[in-house]
Amino acid sequence: MSWNCVRNCGACCYLAPAERPFLDEYLDPEQLALYHSLVGQDGWCRHFEPETRTCGIYEHRPAFCRVSPEVLVELYDEAPEDLDAWATHCCREHIEAVHGARSPEMGRFNRAVR
Ligand code: SF4
Ligand code: SF4
Repeated sequence: MSWNCVRNCGACCYLAPAERPFLDEYLDPEQLALYHSLVGQDGWCRHFEPETRTCGIYEHRPAFCRVSPEVLVELYDEAPEDLDAWATHCCREHIEAVHGARSPEMGRFNRAVR
């Protein structure tokens, strides 16, 4: 994949369900319950470490937090040839919502996936 996660972003760890209206279309009931259990009062994942913008349970993070071809095909039913474009689109949506369309995070991401 040419998709790339960039350091010092963390936008996808903002989990407020209002930002993710189609959650129940791709998460089964167990995954959905896990997802909701992660959402803190401020909408950020309880395991997100804001000072470093990293995941506090990185090695044990849920499947829906992992961006790998296997997970994307299984969870989101995307065709393998569409995975790059789909993952890139999702990141841009999250980054725009959390940091802004003209943010340094968006600039770094766009350079990383160019
Ligand atoms: S939104 Fe994308 S680039 Fe930002 S932390 Fe999540 S996966 Fe990485
Ligand atoms: S478990 Fe980790 S990767 Fe998943 S949303 Fe929370 S902080 Fe982000």
